[in-house]
Amino acid sequence: MGMATDVQIGARKIAVVNPATGEILRELDCAGEVEVEAAVSRAKAAQPSWAEAGPRRRIAVLREFQGKLYERKSKIASAISREMGKPVVEALVTEVLVVLDAARFLIENAWTLLRDEPVPHGNLVTKLKSGSLVREPHGVIGIISPWNYPFSIPATETLAALVAGNAVVLKPSELTPLIALELAALLEAAGVPQDVFQVVVGEGPSGAALVRSPIDKLVFTGSVGTGKRIAAMAAERLLPVVLELGGKDPMLVLDDADVDVASSAAVWGAFVNAGQACLSVERCYVHHRLYEAFAAACAEKTKRLRVGNGMDGHTDVGPMIQERQVRIVESHVEDAKARGARVLAGGTRLPELGVNFYAPTVLADVTQSMRIMREETFGPVLPVMACANDEEAVRLANDSEYGLAASVWTRNRKRGERLARRIHAGTVMVNDVISCFGISEAPHGGVKASGVGRTHGRFGLDEMVRVKYLDMDRVPGMKKVWWHGYGEGFRRQMEGFLDMQFARGIWKRVRGGMRAAGVVRRKQL
Ligand code: NAD
Repeated sequence: MGMATDVQIGARKIAVVNPATGEILRELDCAGEVEVEAAVSRAKAAQPSWAEAGPRRRIAVLREFQGKLYERKSKIASAISREMGKPVVEALVTEVLVVLDAARFLIENAWTLLRDEPVPHGNLVTKLKSGSLVREPHGVIGIISPWNYPFSIPATETLAALVAGNAVVLKPSELTPLIALELAALLEAAGVPQDVFQVVVGEGPSGAALVRSPIDKLVFTGSVGTGKRIAAMAAERLLPVVLELGGKDPMLVLDDADVDVASSAAVWGAFVNAGQACLSVERCYVHHRLYEAFAAACAEKTKRLRVGNGMDGHTDVGPMIQERQVRIVESHVEDAKARGARVLAGGTRLPELGVNFYAPTVLADVTQSMRIMREETFGPVLPVMACANDEEAVRLANDSEYGLAASVWTRNRKRGERLARRIHAGTVMVNDVISCFGISEAPHGGVKASGVGRTHGRFGLDEMVRVKYLDMDRVPGMKKVWWHGYGEGFRRQMEGFLDMQFARGIWKRVRGGMRAAGVVRRKQL
């Protein structure tokens, strides 16, 4: 990218808008290539002393952060709601609580998970050496995050990166940068040294500049399309990446499910965050015996939801993030209607509330080929489809390019587990939806187009370190038997050694051992 474009990007401004009211909350400058590079250089300079501070000090900083976040929980929840639209109580539970608990997990476990680990050797030849795994920070981790969980996604990833000794440069979504600045303020107040955590504000090009900058690893969360573009850019320079991408999560309701409980789960799973969750229930397959009753219960519960401004304490479902997203939802619903789907609830915009509001919608009689069952809708729509039996439910669930999460609903836990094992997804929940994201011990991530790598839990922490294998020879004064000075005799001795370790039959092994014993008498170079 040339200088002219750099200047142009750097000069761009973005307006941060409250999606419920259209009010402009703040205008911010976009970081261009030059600003992004400068932030990464500062992070590179600051990282080594943060790494040297050691895990104890870094865990203490996380504890401070947790305390400060707890103190400011209501302020942060309101800030999330104002900038992104979700009900304040959802911001409190699905964002603030998730981050407090992620900090708890790392405070309790990072010391054990990051410490060196002995590697015992099984091969007799290498018994005279001791091995260990050393977990080193990568250096500077770039994080690019979406708008739908503007606090919990970047914060959980950042905490894991920081506790492992990395510096972080975060490029939040251009739609929700203010809450990322709140995160920066909290981390600074907790004692994270200057430049160890930085936020660069901007749109796609600022993110692309971060991918091109000399970061050491990238953790990206966003759509499949952007994820693929980023993976291609990362491949150019073999930049390691974690990609947390989209989903089309299926919900399987078996013939022994509790219709009341499962329909409440479907309604919450489809409409929490106005359906804008990567783990939203996006497809519902229901055993044909329960189908009508289940669909009717969903419709009835959906009609009772209160749609409005997330800052209003009574609101169940807030606005969508922007009108462009509403148009996608509308096009999926129109396609389904044109091809025979029945609208049991909603199915329209709510212009009286504002341009970003769409009524929570339940569709019945959908088919697998409709866009609503194939493409990520990312909005408040619950499509319900009948299926013949468990086999068909599993087949339909797996018939998708995505594989983020899924859920199975049954009164029989064994049956649920059997089906869960057959579903192609990063997470399958039996009798629950979405809450896996809030289980700090559980890894989060997808298979197929839903992504590569994991965040959260010990696997998420593993992504933030590179493993060095450290090998120590216990007998420094001894030449190794496999070094030069070969010959026919040595070959036979080596064969004997292989027999001693791997031959079937005790006598072959004993004979091998006797031949191998000659090894040490060899004249070596
Ligand atoms: P998006 O892909 O449009 O944007 C994500 C981020 O990438 C933003 O910060 C954006 O500015 C940046 N970006 C855009 N183009 C870029 C480029 N060329 N190079 C570098 N960065 C670029 O996604 P979105 O609309 O913000 O988020 C919604 C999507 O995210 C949905 O598909 C959703 O399923 C997915 N998501 C996945 C997870 C998960 O954990 N798997 C979680 C939340 C959201």
